[in-house]
Parts: sequence; C-alpha cells; structure tokens
Amino acid sequence: MKSFENADNKEINKFDRVSQIWWDLKGEMGTLHTINPLRTNFIMEKLNGGSPRILDVGCGGGILSEALAKAGAQVTGLDLSEASIQVAKQHAQQQGLNIDYRYESVEEVAQKNVGSFDVVTCMEMLEHVPEPGKVVAACAQALKPGGHAFFSTINRTPKAFLFAIIGGEYVLRLLPRGTHTYSKLIRPTELKNWNREAGLDFVRLASLMYNPFTRTFKVAAGKEDVNYMAHFIKK
Ligand code: SAH
Repeated sequence: MKSFENADNKEINKFDRVSQIWWDLKGEMGTLHTINPLRTNFIMEKLNGGSPRILDVGCGGGILSEALAKAGAQVTGLDLSEASIQVAKQHAQQQGLNIDYRYESVEEVAQKNVGSFDVVTCMEMLEHVPEPGKVVAACAQALKPGGHAFFSTINRTPKAFLFAIIGGEYVLRLLPRGTHTYSKLIRPTELKNWNREAGLDFVRLASLMYNPFTRTFKVAAGKEDVNYMAHFIKK
C-alpha cells in the first residue's frame, strides 16, 4: 500500500477488506445499491444532457461510477483502496463500460487536471478522511468554472448517531459495523464553509430518508438531519 498525505490507513484497510462485496447486492454494501438511483438522479437531473466529464472521488467498487457511465457520462474514478480499484476495473470490464479508474489521490489527479472536469462527485467519502476540507479544495481545483460538485455524507447530530450508526450498523445491519465514527461525521455548515473557501457556491441540499418498514429511501428537500447530499457550482 502506498502512503498518501490526506488518507487514514485504518479507513483504507477497512475498505480493502470489504472490497470483494461491493457488488453483492444483498450484502453489507447493499444500501449503496439501494440509494444509487436516487443519487444518480440528484446528479444527472441538473446537468444538460450530453456526455459530461465526471470525476468520481472515493469511487470504491464503482457503484456510482458505473451508473453515471450508463447515463452517458465519461467517468474517471479514483480511490486509495487498491483492492477496491481492482474490483471496479474488473466489474466495468465485465459490463463493457469504459471507465478510467485510478489508484491515485484526488490531490494528485486535480493537480494534473486543473479545471478539466464538468462534474466532480464525492459520495460517502469525506467522513473517512483526516482533512475533508482539503478534499473539497482539490475537487474544486479539478472542476471547470461553472462545473458542478456533488457531495454526500452524514450529519453530526444525535439523531444521526442513533439512526445511522446504532440503527444502520448495529440494529438493521444496513452497513458493516464500524463503518462510521461519530466525531468524523460532517455538519452541512462545515461542508458549506469548505466549499465557500474553495470558491464553490451552494446550490441545494437534499436528505436521503430511510423508511425501515418499507426498507426504502426517499429524497426530501431540506431535512438534512441524517444522510444528505449537497450540490455546489464553481464560480
Ligand atoms: N463513493 C462510493 C464508495 C463510498 S465508501 C459509493 O458511494 O458508492 C468510501 C470510499 O472512500 C472507500 O472506497 C474508501 O476506500 C474511499 N476513501 C477513503 N479515504 C480516501 C481518500 N483519502 N482518498 C480517496 N478515497 C478514499
């Protein structure tokens, strides 16, 4: 494993260990598959068709990258879990999808590709990084002026602790135990501040609400107390 400045090795190891189950729809990553159409729509609905160049930061096994590629985007995916990048490459190949996967940090890719992406997506990743503000800054650097950035994460509220960590990981087993650490969760105001400092304007925020009875998620504007997605535009 290479060593990267803004990465937590314990976190990366955790994702290396689960890399074989990214595409197991009924496994512990199943929740990402359940929310995938909702988040793909949240991203694609504000773009004007065509085939945007998208950088997917912290792409894991490529669950979102593949959906974006199927929706017509030209996708570059990066992740620091080498095992996950291998799985992503293999899976895309099996699906006949042309996705450029890289075992490189967002800081490296941004430096080599300043101002070149129409869209940057960074889903469920910031809460696993030592300095999330630096990731946001690198995402901004990689974007064209007028480009779109999409982030999703979990709010740091008592309700999020109860629902996402206790409920999600221990009671309902929607995610592997130990996936999230409460202190690393991110408040929308923090995410907005990092984006403002990086030169990105806030556009909208939506929450992903889970209904344990129907086992489904829905998108709701405004209620960001647990899982949420946010959209910004580079000036
Ligand atoms: N975005 C994907 C996977 C989310 S899981 C999806 O939503 O489907 C979080 C991912 O972030 C893991 O694959 C993990 O390896 C990756 N990650 C953690 N720290 C990282 C870092 N510093 N740089 C890039 N990827 C990182």
